[in-house]
Amino acid sequence: MRQTDQGLPESDRTIVTALVDANRILVARGVLDAFGHVSARSAADPDRFYLARNMAPGRVTSEDIQAFTLDAQTDDPRPSYLEKYIHAEIYRARPDVTGVVHSHSPAVIPFAVTDRPLRPVLHMAGFLADAVPVFEIRDHLGEDSDLLIRDARTGAALADALGPHAVVLMRGHGSVAVGDSLPDAVFRAVYAEVNAGIQAAATQLGAVTYLTPQEGAAAWRTNSSQVVRAWDVWREEVRVP
Ligand code: MN
Repeated sequence: MRQTDQGLPESDRTIVTALVDANRILVARGVLDAFGHVSARSAADPDRFYLARNMAPGRVTSEDIQAFTLDAQTDDPRPSYLEKYIHAEIYRARPDVTGVVHSHSPAVIPFAVTDRPLRPVLHMAGFLADAVPVFEIRDHLGEDSDLLIRDARTGAALADALGPHAVVLMRGHGSVAVGDSLPDAVFRAVYAEVNAGIQAAATQLGAVTYLTPQEGAAAWRTNSSQVVRAWDVWREEVRVP
């Protein structure tokens, strides 16, 4: 946050610090590159969320974090991400969600542009087991859009496609992973990408056996208590000494 934005409650200062780390973790794990973004809901005010200003995620510091309302408005005059509506409308539609990752992570995209669903092939991605919907932006903006989520109406349509699920794919574009904590959303974005790569490789080899919905749910119950282990080690890897 800029100096003038200091005075945040302690809980939100912690969130801003974690959000900076989340940006760097997601770059280090190949989920974000020069594009994509990650946000966290305010702990002090559930109708606000934090997101970096319009910049490459790998360079984000706490000075670069902007605070938004659920109408995607900020008092910060610096340019914000065009696709901030993804975050705003998912926080509006999903009170349980406190972290959102939007990426163009490459292994996931084949599953957004073919009739092959993204499904869990390893226990770490059990959160994919119920369903991974695909958002078709042409259904909302026709055949000549630039595929970006540029307004609240399109953001709400994406949130509707996500429904109660952990991940939604965006045809010709990327994906969104959500979680009930910021580390949870980061974990899901990382393992959606890992699972997609393994699923594509397995499909080349032969008939694939997927986790059942029950296995996926059971695996996620186990792994959700271990998210902090991944978060702690990934955070150490990106911490500037
Ligand atoms: Mn995008």
